[in-house]
Amino acid sequence: MVSRVIPVEPFDLVIFGATGDLARRKILPGLFRRFASGQMPEEARIIGAARSAMDTDSFRQIIRDALQEFMPSSAKTPDLVDTFLERLAYVTVDAMGSAGWEELAGLVRKDVVNAFYFSVAPSLFGALAERLHSFGIAHDNTRIVVEKPFGHDLKTAQALNNSLAAHFTEKQIYRIDHYLGKETVQNLMAIRFGNMLFEPLWNAQFVDHIQITVAETVGVGGRGSYYDQSGAMRDMVQNHLMQLLCLIAMEPPSRFEPDAVRDEKLKVIRALDSVEPHHIVRGQYDAAEGVASYREDVDNPRSRTESFIAMRCQVSNWRWAGTPFYLRTGKRLSARASEIAVVFKETPHSIFQEGDGVSEHRNILTIRLQPNEGIEMGVTIKEPGPGGMRLVDVPLDMTFADALGPDVEDVPDAYERLIMDVIRGNQTLFMRGDEVEAAWAWTDPLIDSWTARHDVPKLYDQNSSGPVDASALIQRDGRRWRDIRT
Ligand code: NAP
Repeated sequence: MVSRVIPVEPFDLVIFGATGDLARRKILPGLFRRFASGQMPEEARIIGAARSAMDTDSFRQIIRDALQEFMPSSAKTPDLVDTFLERLAYVTVDAMGSAGWEELAGLVRKDVVNAFYFSVAPSLFGALAERLHSFGIAHDNTRIVVEKPFGHDLKTAQALNNSLAAHFTEKQIYRIDHYLGKETVQNLMAIRFGNMLFEPLWNAQFVDHIQITVAETVGVGGRGSYYDQSGAMRDMVQNHLMQLLCLIAMEPPSRFEPDAVRDEKLKVIRALDSVEPHHIVRGQYDAAEGVASYREDVDNPRSRTESFIAMRCQVSNWRWAGTPFYLRTGKRLSARASEIAVVFKETPHSIFQEGDGVSEHRNILTIRLQPNEGIEMGVTIKEPGPGGMRLVDVPLDMTFADALGPDVEDVPDAYERLIMDVIRGNQTLFMRGDEVEAAWAWTDPLIDSWTARHDVPKLYDQNSSGPVDASALIQRDGRRWRDIRT
């Protein structure tokens, strides 16, 4: 079922921050899977770079341990791991100093694709970009990959864009939002623009509303000091939820090409209305038995940062006038579940009698990002068997794991797909600088407004679906949130 893997061009991929959490948990295991699938050509090399002094053997051991910890055992054999590790090298490099740069310059081959993954704190991005140039490593075809967070607000995002633009063109910069690398998210575009079935209905006339939910069960973990400066709006809405909203709401691009897609996404962000304060609910998780509260987790008893946010947004254009987009995301909720639900309107007139079994005849298209990536369409049918015309809602389900059978492990995870796109030079699933700035331009006034009002987030129970006010937000419109469930 899964198509044949086509190897990419030979490359040198340098990962700055190769000893860090993201590199060990996501980037290198992802690269291993692409290697195991045969997508990585023999000449491909991965060069780890970080500040810690160590040799290549020690680095390989760190990555061997990481593969052991973060990869299911079925996906690897000792031989495969050994061959993969042979492609790894390590250089001690200080992003802020001159140590290691000459050695790195001598190592990177100019006759293959060169990509540099900045898996380090954003405060180092500018210094890395500058040194790649001053040490003669970068050339016209060099690609750089930058991680989130891309700025803290519009001003810092602009400064970051400027510091990268001083050394690289927009075509060389790949801003990662790993939500865009998810199979289902790309499938959303395939479904919308590859079928005649949905697109004619994809507008305010037929869609009642849209819900986008990204629910997590974890708290802020060890990221407390970062998170308390950020909150759910900056950490999740400004990037991930906004990107999902764009893919749902955008007009069909003329081609599935980077700038055509990104132009359409940008138009959506620019068409987003500001959100009235009464259409935003912010929350903080309360303490539970034996489990700390948000404020305890971030060690800030007076924190006003939100670990939950729900909001009602409006895209002001012809397609979506009057169709609300309800967004919500939060931590310590009842399940780890992310989905987009497109809720279609009720039929204009019901030919069935009350009591026929279904009170509302609504079709819902659900795009599940996690768990069990897949797409489900709820349709109303006749309940089989005797008893007259009784109606029942059933899902037309396309869970990828079911559809793809035993090959499902070969479906690349978001990071591995995106890294391969960098090597292929395809920017379609990466955010352009103006998109990021437009997203901040929409986000900043909302944050400024609740900060100026001294808004205090509502407490919510752990293992719940968030503050009660979030339910009221949507119930006021005669609608309700879908259950958060795995
Ligand atoms: P981390 O665990 O703190 O790792 C940071 C890495 O940067 C380490 O390898 C460190 O090497 C290296 N480093 C620090 N200072 C350096 C310098 N002056 N020169 C060269 N290397 C230096 O961070 P992380 O969690 O992996 O996150 C990396 C980036 O990804 C951040 O921008 C983060 O926001 C983003 N991100 C992370 C996640 C995640 O799940 N972890 C998710 C989304 C985005 P030494 O230890 O040798 O100094």
